[in-house]
Order: sequence, then C-alpha cells, then structure tokens
Amino acid sequence: MTGRRGRRRAPPEPAYVPGTLLDWTSSKHWDYDGPRPCRYCGIDTQLRDSHGSPAHKTCAEDALATQAAEAADAYHQNGQTT
Ligand SMILES: [Zn+2]
Repeated sequence: MTGRRGRRRAPPEPAYVPGTLLDWTSSKHWDYDGPRPCRYCGIDTQLRDSHGSPAHKTCAEDALATQAAEAADAYHQNGQTT
C-alpha cells in the first residue's frame, strides 16, 4: 500500500510567456497593401491575424491569454462544489 488515496491534483497551469504564443512567420500575416488600425489597440499595423483582421501579434496574444484565463477561471468555478 502506498497510503495515497483519491485523485491526483491537477498540475499547475503553465505560465504564459508573452511573445511565444503565436507563430506569425507566415507571409499571410503581413498585408503589403499598407497599415490599418489594429483591432485591439487602434495603432496602425501591417500585421493581420488568422482572420485577416489588422492586429499586432502582441495584442492578439494578450487577447488570447485573457480569453484563456477567463475560460480557466470559469472552468474552475464550475468545477467547485460550494
Ligand atoms: Zn495593437
């Protein structure tokens, strides 16, 4: 007997390192027609997100990280038995 019972605890969430979430090296993320306002911060950029909308890579990553954090929070809240 090991003396351990029950389910193992979930491993900790991996830490988000800014700038490492997305790979935008493909040319489809660069619009040669010229800069347009970023959908997140409004500053002009020639970068495009996966939907073709103007967005800085860092802005898109911040938005994704926020969405993931909110989803994780909702998941943890729904999993609690209060
Ligand atoms: Zn931006």
